[in-house]
Order: sequence, then C-alpha cells, then structure tokens
Amino acid sequence: MSIISGFILPCAHIIYRALLTILFAIVFNTYYLISYFLFLEKKKPNEIAEVEHPVKALGWAARDATGVLSPFEFSRRATRDHDVQLKILYCGICHSDLHSIKNDSGFSPYPQVPGHEMVGIVTEVGSKVEKFKVGDKVGVGCMVGSCRKCDQCVNNLENYCPQSVFTYNSIDSDGTTTYGGYSNIMVADEHFVIRWPEKLPLDSGAPLLCAGTTTYSALKYYGLDKPGLHVGVVGLGGLGHVAVKFLKAFGAKVTVISNSAGKKQDAVETLGADRFLVSRDEEEMKAAAATLDGIIDTVSAVHPIGLLIGLLKLHGKMVVVGLPEKLELPVLPVVAGRKLVGGSLIGGLKEMQEMIDFAAEHNILADVEIIPMDYVNTAMERLERGDAKYRFVIDVGKTVKPE
Ligand SMILES: [Zn+2]
Ligand SMILES: [Zn+2]
Repeated sequence: MSIISGFILPCAHIIYRALLTILFAIVFNTYYLISYFLFLEKKKPNEIAEVEHPVKALGWAARDATGVLSPFEFSRRATRDHDVQLKILYCGICHSDLHSIKNDSGFSPYPQVPGHEMVGIVTEVGSKVEKFKVGDKVGVGCMVGSCRKCDQCVNNLENYCPQSVFTYNSIDSDGTTTYGGYSNIMVADEHFVIRWPEKLPLDSGAPLLCAGTTTYSALKYYGLDKPGLHVGVVGLGGLGHVAVKFLKAFGAKVTVISNSAGKKQDAVETLGADRFLVSRDEEEMKAAAATLDGIIDTVSAVHPIGLLIGLLKLHGKMVVVGLPEKLELPVLPVVAGRKLVGGSLIGGLKEMQEMIDFAAEHNILADVEIIPMDYVNTAMERLERGDAKYRFVIDVGKTVKPE
C-alpha cells in the first residue's frame, strides 16, 4: 500500500498530466494550423493584390453578402507593355452587380469591387500599345482577359473563351482577383479596351458596354436586326430599353412585353415601341399570337414562357439574354412551329466596338440617372425594387477621390 501511495500513484498522476498536456498541444496546434491555413486561403488573392501592385486605387467594395458598399483602398498593377491605364469617370450599375454583391450565385469573393460599364480617359499606355494614347476616351466592359488562342478567341468571340477573365470577381493572369469600375483607376490590356466615339456622351453611353453589347450581339447573331421584322422585347429594364432603341435603329417594328402595365406610356411614347403587351393578361397575349418574327427576353427572374412562344410566327426565334435560374420550355409549340429558343452572352471585343460605333452613329444612349458614389447603396435598394429608369450611372470622376 505504501509503495502504491508513495510511488505508483504520483507516477500515474505525472503520466496522466503529461498525456493531457500532449493531447491539449495536439488539439490546440491542429486547430491553430487549420485556422492559419484557412485564413491564408481566404486572404490570399487580396493580400497578393495589396502587396504586389504599385498603383494605389480607391473604390467602393462589398465586404460580405449584405452587399453594403463602402470605401476600399486597394491597388492596380503597374502598366504592362500592352496595358492601358485609365482614370474612370463614369460607371453604370448593372443588375448583375446587385446579384453579385449579394452573393446570389453562391461564389462571390469579398471584398468585392463591382462595375463592368466603365468609361474614362487614358492616363498612361504601355510601350507596345498601338490603339490608344494618353488623353483618349475609352471604355471597359464585362471582360479584361481571355486566352487569345482558342477557336473562340481567334474568331473574335472572347466572351465564349473557357479562360475568359471577367472585369470583377475573376482570377486574373497574375493570380490576383479582378476589381471593377466602382473605383477611380483601371488598368487593362488594350485588346479589352474600347475606343470611345467623340460624339457619344460618356455618362449615358457607359451602360452600353454591358446592356448594349448583350442585346446588340444577341439580335445580330439570331438575324433579328433586319428592317421590317417584328420583334418583341420582354422586360423593360436596363437591357430591354436599350434593345428597343437598337431594334428601332435596325428598322424593326417593336412590341414591348412587360408584366407592369405602368410601363406602357414610357415604352410607346418615350421609347417609340409600336405595341405594348402586358404579359399577365392572357387574353391580350393570346390575341397577339403568331405576330412576332423574334423575341429578345431580358428578364432575369423565373417566368413562364408558354405565352411568349405563342407570340412567335412559324420559324420565330426567341433569344434569352437574362439569367433566370431556369425556364420551363413547352416543347409542342416549338416543334409544331419550327421555332427556336437560344441564348446569348454579352459580346466579343470586335463586336463591342462595332456596337459602340453604331450607337454613336444612331444616337443610341441609355436613359440614365447620374448619382454620386455615396448614393450607391440607396441606388441598389431602388434597383432591387424595380425603381430605376433605366440605369444608374455613378459619377466616379467627381465623387471617388482619395482624401
Ligand atoms: Zn452587366
Ligand atoms: Zn480563348
């Protein structure tokens, strides 16, 4: 007993305490290591961006899925041989910016500087830049990079390149995260920069870089750009109102189809549409059956398309450019009327330039409300409840300045 109490028990006690210490060390260090790497993993893109880039930039960023934007200091890369640096003057607010800051897709990185409808003035060019010089007016749209080698890239369809780099939330060629146009400075390869026509206003022209390209490219590819065709525009928002203007310039007859009867006056009197249909009015929709050669559907919410397909004549085409999660396709009327339902995503760089030049020539502009940067959160709320006519454009030049 005395041996047990005098030697074995203290020994067991020491071993027990040593084991506890080792166990604690393992658990604590594992936790510490995992957190460390997780932290590094999360921080990586932005830390690289902060450390490696020498050009100081100021933007407004969302920090989490609440989508609230606030001032954010970051940096842009130094101008490379083929790069153009620009001072951003205006940037449009696209509906996809709203989806992105709220992480609707589930993979938005933070902090996040949105904006892919930016225009400004060139402040610096790389040694091998051919298209631009300091002082030129330019625009940057939805893309800032692609592989430049694949079939799509070679055929001026960079927008369909599997390695396309989007203007924000993408991983750039140097491994850093791209930041968009809600900021004072942009640096991009000249291939992805658009020459701005002298007579096209910068502020109301900016939204064309996404809304204009998206609708122009879709209408062109599906052959809905011919005079005399009767084309329907579904949804009268940022994309829809620009689609009406392009169609009128192509010489088409236009029917606007909206779920809001309140938009009739604007569609017909202001935008010059020839006819207006309320999509919820089944009688009205059925009475207009088989009258359209084509439809461009710009709605990004899930919506029924049966009555829309019914509006198409034999051989009619419906192009989807919005991004609802899904659309339910009634097959019989498509098969029986040899109709086509297709999609289209923004446009290649050559076509973007063609679109901007066409817009300048035909005086096509977005209807905009110019706002200061610090109004952006209110603008997002208004956009969310459909209270925008039709695009907010941020006056970046006057309202995003370092202290
Ligand atoms: Zn957009
Ligand atoms: Zn490519």
